[in-house]
Amino acid sequence: MSEHKQRDNIRIVLVNTSHPGNIGGAARAMKNMDLDQLYLVQPREYPAPRAVWRAAGARDVLDKVVVVDSLDQAIEGCGLVIGTSARERRIPWPLIDPRTCGERIWSESSSHPTALLFGREDRGLTNDELQKCHYHVHIPANPEYSSLNLATAVQVLAYEIRMAQLLAPDGKLPGYTDWDQPPVSAENLERFHLHLQETMTDIGFYDPDNPKQLITRMRRLFNRVRLDEMEVSILRGLLSAVQRISPRK
Ligand code: SAH
Repeated sequence: MSEHKQRDNIRIVLVNTSHPGNIGGAARAMKNMDLDQLYLVQPREYPAPRAVWRAAGARDVLDKVVVVDSLDQAIEGCGLVIGTSARERRIPWPLIDPRTCGERIWSESSSHPTALLFGREDRGLTNDELQKCHYHVHIPANPEYSSLNLATAVQVLAYEIRMAQLLAPDGKLPGYTDWDQPPVSAENLERFHLHLQETMTDIGFYDPDNPKQLITRMRRLFNRVRLDEMEVSILRGLLSAVQRISPRK
């Protein structure tokens, strides 16, 4: 795959950004690092002149920005989703460092779309958003003051993708193994989780009124496994078979 085609498989997703200046700053950071697929999920103020000023010579990245209503739309078709986090969360998730993040994104973008999610300036990504991710990435900043400006965080992680690209222009990094099936897309994984939740409810294993952490733990489990499309269709078939014999059906 040509380098340009591969770059098309790398989405930078900004969720619910408050300050348009950060959108422009992110566009500039991306273009400096040769990335150009910017997705905005419900930006609070966009389009905006401040975004254009901050983008400077990266107006072309802003010109083709994709604005969507939901995170699910932004990650549609993606086989790898990585979420950024400025702090520790209650339920630990597979956590990688920025270098590994750059390598994973670059190597996987040679075969399928990937997404890197950035949160709101004031409170980052929600737990629901973070639970859609295979990995979380944390920039190991000063623990006393670990939250970077949004566009600065985009710069650091885009730089790591750039470094991975320079080391392996064809996307083939050591340790990356080809697989016989494509990884499940974000939307099919979401459908699987809804089906799982429905089946667990049907058989009385899950009580939606007393959720505890079951759903979170199931999401973490299946994100950790990196399911492929074939495995998900087998599991969906299994769930349908269980639903057919379930007493509530
Ligand atoms: N108070 C918020 C900080 C959000 S900073 C919180 O506690 O989550 C805005 C965004 O910048 C974050 O959602 C993340 O996308 C990015 N960011 C800032 N600092 C980061 C860090 N140390 N590691 C990874 N991402 C970071």
